[in-house]
Amino acid sequence: MNYRDKFRIKPGNSVKLDKMDAAFKDKHEDQTSALVETEKYTHRLRELQYLLYAEDKRSLLIILQAMDAGGKDGTINHVLGNMNPQGAKVYGFKVPSAEEAAHDFLWRIHQAAPQRGQVAIFNRSHYEDVLISRVHNLVPKKVWSKRYDLINDFEKSLVDNGTHILKFYLHISKDEQLRRFKQRIDDPTRHWKISESDYTEREYWDDYTTAFEDALNSCSTEHAPWFVIPGDHKWFRNLAVSQIVVETLEALKMEFPQPTVDIKEIKTRYHEAVEEDEKNGENVNTKNRKKKQKIES
Ligand code: ATP
Ligand code: MG
Repeated sequence: MNYRDKFRIKPGNSVKLDKMDAAFKDKHEDQTSALVETEKYTHRLRELQYLLYAEDKRSLLIILQAMDAGGKDGTINHVLGNMNPQGAKVYGFKVPSAEEAAHDFLWRIHQAAPQRGQVAIFNRSHYEDVLISRVHNLVPKKVWSKRYDLINDFEKSLVDNGTHILKFYLHISKDEQLRRFKQRIDDPTRHWKISESDYTEREYWDDYTTAFEDALNSCSTEHAPWFVIPGDHKWFRNLAVSQIVVETLEALKMEFPQPTVDIKEIKTRYHEAVEEDEKNGENVNTKNRKKKQKIES
């Protein structure tokens, strides 16, 4: 199944998250068969990222948003973690610092936008400025309501400058969030992940849902689409995200750049260098043999 088509929010659509099945797993009974496909995609992802880097013409920006425990970290680890770190960077956007807060909301985001040949992954993003900022009235409505257009214009300017943008909303159910909170309690190695805000924010689930729906409806554009990924099954989420990223990169029809040197001539020089080296090697060996004979006699 083509997940790029299935999970993309078409511009003009009106998303209702509670109508979207967070536990969808396509034809897969469990993770066994899905894992085989995911591995195929993550392997290909690494090759395509190498090509993006070599081609040095464009960049890729991947944005991850979700409710708490929605799986942003897991997606980065299991899917995007397969990329070569030389060409990929992850940025986590937390509560803005005093300096960041003293600028416009896109200031810190723009600085993290990927340069040519690179992939940037945003763990949270400028969308927080129409999510938490809206849910908790951090700014008045007349401020946040203008941000959807500002975001679309900003993303368009990145796209016009050669950045491809993919935005994933990892969709989990409220029950699944609670199950993941329990896992965190039961597993001492996950205790560090627990925060008070997980529980306080959960009380605002419906407000966040409305805010997410508005962001998805207002900002899923042809140039920077949103995808709603069913996230209750982590293994299905990984499969869907990896397929969408790979198919997007495949569609770019990237090519290795033409060599900057004359390969025929370089081959000749290589053979000359090998011959030279062999000659020198012989000389050194002959000298060493003579030295050895002298010492022994
Ligand atoms: P984890 O899933 O591991 O808990 P996290 O992304 O939730 O990771 P935290 O440090 O728990 O990381 O939370 C970061 C917090 O920063 C979130 O509550 C988020 O809403 C908040 N935040 C991010 N951007 C902004 C913003 N622009 N304005 C206000 N708060 C923001
Ligand atoms: Mg958190």
